[in-house]
Amino acid sequence: MSGAANPTPPLAPPLAALLELTHRCPLQCPYCSNPIELERAKGELSTDEWRRVLDEAAELGVLQVHFSGGEPTVRRDLPELVAHARRIGLYSNLITSGVTLDRARLAVLAQAGLDHAQLSIQDVDHQTAAHIANHPGVQGKKLAFARWVREIGLPLTINAVVNRHNVTRVERMIDLAVELGAVRVEVAHVQYYGWALRNRAALMPTLEQVQEATQRVEAARARLRGQIVIDYVVPDYYARQPKSCMGGWGRQFLNITPSGEVLPCHAAQTIPGLVFDSVRHKPLAEIWASSAAFEAYRGTDWMPEPCRSCDQREVDWGGCRCQALAITGSAAAADPACALSPAHQEMRSLAEAASAAPAPDFVYRRMTPQETPAKVAAATR
Ligand code: SF4
Ligand code: SF4
Repeated sequence: MSGAANPTPPLAPPLAALLELTHRCPLQCPYCSNPIELERAKGELSTDEWRRVLDEAAELGVLQVHFSGGEPTVRRDLPELVAHARRIGLYSNLITSGVTLDRARLAVLAQAGLDHAQLSIQDVDHQTAAHIANHPGVQGKKLAFARWVREIGLPLTINAVVNRHNVTRVERMIDLAVELGAVRVEVAHVQYYGWALRNRAALMPTLEQVQEATQRVEAARARLRGQIVIDYVVPDYYARQPKSCMGGWGRQFLNITPSGEVLPCHAAQTIPGLVFDSVRHKPLAEIWASSAAFEAYRGTDWMPEPCRSCDQREVDWGGCRCQALAITGSAAAADPACALSPAHQEMRSLAEAASAAPAPDFVYRRMTPQETPAKVAAATR
């Protein structure tokens, strides 16, 4: 893998923005992509601030906004934000756990102009789903939500997060997505940053389980061609090539935290030394173009070997910075998912050791150890 350096292409606008409206969530998934230090409700952007952010995103050239969290529906102003996105021509997607809305509130969102709903599931097995989310009865609520989405006429995507507790049921999760009338199912192995890194031993499947799951996904793709789109996110720890994380750092995507910090990816706050600008203090276009955090790993100039002279460097952009940091201690290293990384074997060994041992208890994602799901749900605004 070698090649000469190319001139950096001009900066295009981001295609999509993930808006983390809040970190509050009634579930406590041990692989949650939110940071370990969750933000409090009192620091969240106001309705007016989010409206301004939507305006700035549209002016910048963003096409899609994903209303996410935490659980975005705990924000009572969500219909206003959805309506604003529709007014200014942004495609809107709701990424939800599906446990907080009733049918009437979902209908309000659809009337406000919501374009799409994306529902995460923990499993097909009700008991395991409740255990993973630490929320009794979670599966029944999700199934009801999915039904309402289809009755109301919104397109639905199911997001199934695969780990050692449900890896033997990937095909059943895909079949459930078909039964629910989803247009797409994303079968995604856990990505190990933040909470998931803390729970790595509790979540990691064996190589044999992953290979079996991959075969089952391939079989389902063949069986269900034309019925549903099946996306598959492979587990980095057993990969030989890294994913093109975020389509390249600062190339296609931005993420805004509940308090307005703008990140190149949802896990970027795990990288020490990066300074993130806030929409409270700078226009989004200026942050996209010149924020130090976006510039740090944008393009290829920052790359050391083996990426610097690799002909894949503008295909996978060196893989994931947060994963490089988590395994090698340096965010500028090649992603250890790459077979050319000096840390590749170490990463594989970590996975093999974790998956061979009995699964420890989960460290559930919580604001504080005292916080209960009921308290979070009650603290809506
Ligand atoms: S706890 Fe679960 S449902 Fe809530 S934001 Fe995290 S991953 Fe999503
Ligand atoms: S991570 Fe680096 S060395 Fe590995 S394939 Fe990508 S660009 Fe090449």
